[in-house]
Amino acid sequence: MRVSKLLGQRFKNPPSDCVIESHALMARGGYMKYMANGIYSLFMPGKRILHKIEEIIRDEMDRADGQEVLFPVAMPASLWEESGRYTSIGPELARWTDRSGNKMVLGMTHEEAAVHLARDTAASYADYPFMIYQIQTKFRDEPRARGGLIRVREFTMKDAYSFHTSKEDLERYYAIQHKAYENIFRRAGAKNVISVKSDSGMMGGSVSHEFMLLSEIGEDTLAICPECGYSANMEAAEVRIENEPGEPAPLEKVPTPGKTTIEDVSSYLHVSPKSFCKAVVYQKNEDDSLVVVFIRGDLDVNETKLRNHLGFEIHPATVGEDSPVVPGFIGPVGFPAGIKTVFDASLRGIRNLVCGANEKDAHYTGFDPERELGAVSYADVAKIFAGAVCPACGKPVITIKKGIEVGNIFQLGTKYTKAMNMTYLDQNGEAQYPLMGCYGVGVGRLAASICQESHDDYGPIWPMSIAPWQVEVCNLRCDDPDITARSEGIVEELEALGVEVLYDDRDIRPGAMFADADLFGIPIRVVVSPKTAERGVYEVSYRDKSFRGDVPYEGAAEAIREMVDKELAKYAR
Ligand code: ATP
Ligand code: MG
Repeated sequence: MRVSKLLGQRFKNPPSDCVIESHALMARGGYMKYMANGIYSLFMPGKRILHKIEEIIRDEMDRADGQEVLFPVAMPASLWEESGRYTSIGPELARWTDRSGNKMVLGMTHEEAAVHLARDTAASYADYPFMIYQIQTKFRDEPRARGGLIRVREFTMKDAYSFHTSKEDLERYYAIQHKAYENIFRRAGAKNVISVKSDSGMMGGSVSHEFMLLSEIGEDTLAICPECGYSANMEAAEVRIENEPGEPAPLEKVPTPGKTTIEDVSSYLHVSPKSFCKAVVYQKNEDDSLVVVFIRGDLDVNETKLRNHLGFEIHPATVGEDSPVVPGFIGPVGFPAGIKTVFDASLRGIRNLVCGANEKDAHYTGFDPERELGAVSYADVAKIFAGAVCPACGKPVITIKKGIEVGNIFQLGTKYTKAMNMTYLDQNGEAQYPLMGCYGVGVGRLAASICQESHDDYGPIWPMSIAPWQVEVCNLRCDDPDITARSEGIVEELEALGVEVLYDDRDIRPGAMFADADLFGIPIRVVVSPKTAERGVYEVSYRDKSFRGDVPYEGAAEAIREMVDKELAKYAR
């Protein structure tokens, strides 16, 4: 490919909406073009990167016995009504009515389509297990598109669905997918991807993992144990607290005029926030009824854990004048009847706490949950924090990191097959619901995440396995017939050896050509100029700066091919 003919401009300053480096570099480098919020077109370099990632994924899915299929993007709403998701999913699901008046949706994921495809054909236990997958466009009307391809509204996803006749078989296959995912990320050149235990939503018992590329710009918060390797999304991380009981004291009401926050009361009464029973108030989405969580004063509630515990959706409460609770002074003693309460496990075992007295300007001291309330049933709804006790090895060394979710795998069980009435006949001729697993990777998000992880100030540093081209040849003197003949010669020879070459044949200053080359991020650069011609060599350098040297004309193409192969080998299976 000649740069002179390549569509797409490279420029110095990023568009103003680029706050993340990878977004800025991919916009500046002519990889993609903004069309509308969360919607981009890709130029050829961007498309080639995505294509290479897709090929890696395809290879891993085929090796995991996958059958590549293709589901429609536009689907009848009736299919989504069967699964219940037509109503349970919010405005992220794009809905419309076609010209005949049929309700339709745009696929944001394809569990329904997978069940639809398989349910009439896989009728006997002998047809199982099997896995179907596709690499295709998804549409999600995301509330907050951000970071270029990291969070978009239209994107390419690889989504796979496996079907099994037993839990054991699903678990066996899940492990195969877990390994395939590790291979995908390593082969694509992502350096810092870890798998973390993730929140399985309200489906109970299900197992799921997210693959997280560790990055400061990630939207997910992860709890990691450097000692034993435990890792979990904050939304799934168990918080274990062992409290010192403290000296029991009598329950006493004390005046705390105008002291409504933990900080206020704690400095007023000279007690640490750890000795507080704090109240956090939510409302049930369905009817706005109150839910009050009591938790140790120094901790926060994780809303996802709370939601899973409750089994219904909630939002932070707006407490008005006529509310039955007294904001700033809410506590478990004398708490109004009929309001749902949750006691976080962080309160377990403490004998002497400060809590609100459920009246204005007063708190209790000496609150002992068990003494005052009898048996308390505790739930773990706390947000994990740095230095927390690792739930796996028990050491107080949890560290908190940010990550970008590049893929996830999920043991779905019979959720969809039951809802959509997919059955098979088992060995005894009895109808059974198959168990499902699902496995997703965001192709564009992975490309952008790798750029985020692997770049310098001047541009992306693409791993050889996904680079848009393997070698860039820079002709520094297009007006010189000898230099041009040399340049075109090496391009031809390399291409004849199967090397993918981008050839910069433009009559521009070397500085401008190199700035563009940095933005292309191609791993190996070959410079042809009067100076190199004088020495009878090509100057070869690596985009990651690990090598720079002369390669003599004689045998140059073979030598460069070898360099490419050596780089490729780093990402081999
Ligand atoms: P997130 O929590 O980031 O919204 P998700 O849990 O909704 O992700 P899934 O529905 O499991 O994601 O989709 C599978 C994969 O598709 C994700 O792991 C991610 O790589 C990718 N993906 C999801 N949403 C987007 C998006 N809006 N833009 C780009 N890629 C996405
Ligand atoms: Mg999402």
